[in-house]
Amino acid sequence: MRTIKRALISGGAGFVGSHLCEQLLRDGVSVVCLDNLCTGLRSNIKLLEEHPDFRWVDHDAVEPWPELGDFDLVAHLACPASPVDYAELGIETLRVGSEGTRHALDVALAKGARFLLASTSEVYGDPTEHPQRETYWGNVNSIGPRSVYDESKRFSEAITVAYRRYHGVDTTIARIFNTYGPRMRPDDGRMIPTFIHQALTNRPLTVSGSGQQTRSICHVTDTVRGLSALAHSHHEGPVNIGNPIELSVWNVATKILESTGSSSPIEYHDAVIDDPQKRCPDITLARSELGWEPLIGADEGLASTIEWFRSGLAVSALESNH
Ligand code: NAD
Repeated sequence: MRTIKRALISGGAGFVGSHLCEQLLRDGVSVVCLDNLCTGLRSNIKLLEEHPDFRWVDHDAVEPWPELGDFDLVAHLACPASPVDYAELGIETLRVGSEGTRHALDVALAKGARFLLASTSEVYGDPTEHPQRETYWGNVNSIGPRSVYDESKRFSEAITVAYRRYHGVDTTIARIFNTYGPRMRPDDGRMIPTFIHQALTNRPLTVSGSGQQTRSICHVTDTVRGLSALAHSHHEGPVNIGNPIELSVWNVATKILESTGSSSPIEYHDAVIDDPQKRCPDITLARSELGWEPLIGADEGLASTIEWFRSGLAVSALESNH
């Protein structure tokens, strides 16, 4: 296992990024977070700023990056990640995946740091191979409404391997599958925070399509443990980081209704264009190369997420951001 003492995390004010920063700080790593809060939360930074080894730099990753010191790890997580966010920030999403990733790679090159790209299961598109292995090339519509995100990440992967190939940068790629947990924004439009928010406010749970489409949901604690294991390894990736237990969207809605005790009905809406019908990672590689697998089951993970939403922290974090 390699030693990491100083890390630069782009997107560290976001949902996954703030948990990653927190984990690294707990492991004794000093952390600089580069984030412009375009989809992240000020409250996530405030929590972290109480730690003496944490610094936030308010910067748009698309612009050339300022000199920020020396690092052993550069992790590039900055990118709008929810369909609602990237629909609104389409060009920004493409730019942070292309120009932003290039700037992040240039820092890793200059500092001799390990580089970790937070990629996504969306690079597999609406998959024709199931479960998805890292060797699968994907089935992505390059001109559909989701393409700003999917193609942005596919380009990020391409430039990441090009920096390894042409410049010898020590890169790796994590293909992250649906992750959920505390600190998700109630308005970010992703399935779990949307359902929880709807259940707790006694509104119908809005399911797009039949609800039989599947997702694999991974608790953020597990995802971050996987990212950290990959960062500390020598593996070049890509490596799937996700929970291989497949649930239908209807299953997830029902679990949330049970766990919240809500009597909200489930309401079916038109299917979303290009919505993947099946989504499940093959995590053989993560198991064998990183010794990693998820440990938190859906019932336990959803309960802790619901608890966080119930505490009012989700809504107050959002309100204090504006
Ligand atoms: P998020 O929106 O909560 O976090 C993204 C962070 O990046 C935010 O803090 C945002 O302000 C910042 N950011 C975006 N564009 C920026 C820019 N141009 N300059 C500086 N900062 C910028 O999303 P998340 O769910 O935490 O996702 C984090 C990363 O993990 C993303 O790269 C995403 O693609 C990847 N990922 C997440 C999931 C998931 O289920 N959460 C799944 C697959 C991949």
